[in-house]
Amino acid sequence: EDTVARIAAGEVVERPASAVKELVENSLDADASRVDVTVEEGGTELIRVADDGSGMTEADLRAAVRQHTTSKIEDLTDLESGVSTLGFRGEALHTIGSVSRLTLRSRPRDGSEAGTELVYEGGDVASVEPAGCPEGTVVEVADLFYNTPARRKFLKTTATEFAHVNRVVTRYALANPDVAVSLTHDGREVFATTGQGDLQAAVLSVYGREVASAMIPVGADGDDLPPGPVDAISGLVSHPETNRSSREYLATYVNDRAVTADAIREGIMGAYGTQLGSDRYPFVTLFLEVPGDAVDVNVHPRKREVRFDDDDAVRRQVDAAVESALLEHGL
Ligand code: ADP
Ligand code: MG
Repeated sequence: EDTVARIAAGEVVERPASAVKELVENSLDADASRVDVTVEEGGTELIRVADDGSGMTEADLRAAVRQHTTSKIEDLTDLESGVSTLGFRGEALHTIGSVSRLTLRSRPRDGSEAGTELVYEGGDVASVEPAGCPEGTVVEVADLFYNTPARRKFLKTTATEFAHVNRVVTRYALANPDVAVSLTHDGREVFATTGQGDLQAAVLSVYGREVASAMIPVGADGDDLPPGPVDAISGLVSHPETNRSSREYLATYVNDRAVTADAIREGIMGAYGTQLGSDRYPFVTLFLEVPGDAVDVNVHPRKREVRFDDDDAVRRQVDAAVESALLEHGL
């Protein structure tokens, strides 16, 4: 049992960004229209995710931190079945709570007068008290890995840990332009989307005006695409002159789930050809619609690395879609 819990902790929470990912997914699962992420010291000191979602009753809160089988469909199969909840086997809060000081404050949307605050420490419920709070949920994760020094030692610098957090929150912000997503680090707001725009508006909020104005729309389906498993490709890619030396600005999604895939990346890079210098990468936010049975999600579940039954065909399809978008802009 202990071994299982420890393995689960390592699988689910490797670093602050992994906790952030689970908490943001929970907020989106709870139908939030705003999600505010605040971290201190790259998330090693504090992670706070506040949402205006469905909220939880006292009983819900007690259940939420228990190790339990989730009511949601399993994380890794939902990519295949197309189900939209994002939960990770009902383990995330329990696991995060076993390696941090976890505080949950929540008030359900059912007209309850007050909410509840539950404090969970070292794997036990330390207190449960009524609390005044708005509808929705605030989850605070303090002192991550305080009781697992070996794991804490593996954390990188604040800048590196924050870069991972930023990337996770960015992925969700771009994929959910209808949700107002904000990210604040050490008291400084890094970005905030309005939740009222489209992908272009989200890109503007996240990456700024220079990048947003360099974006070129991609949209291809049916006969526009060479033969292969991908039914449709849409999103935005940057003018080749707007690029960076890091792959981290390649935000790619399969069936609305953030993933990385060699075939997708190679297709994108192929379309740019020599227009990008070596080791330069465009800004990309690209969504692929693919029948679930053509995707192999088991390459690296935690890192969301996927392969396709026919990687070559996917590479050609992505290349063609991005290339025709660039061609339309005379590139
Ligand atoms: P899972 O998401 O796989 O169910 P979690 O441990 O992440 O497992 O969450 C446990 C449960 O707590 C969820 O199923 C949900 O009912 C509840 N929950 C967690 N976060 C929130 C939230 N932000 N708003 C509403 N309910 C939540
Ligand atoms: Mg979850």
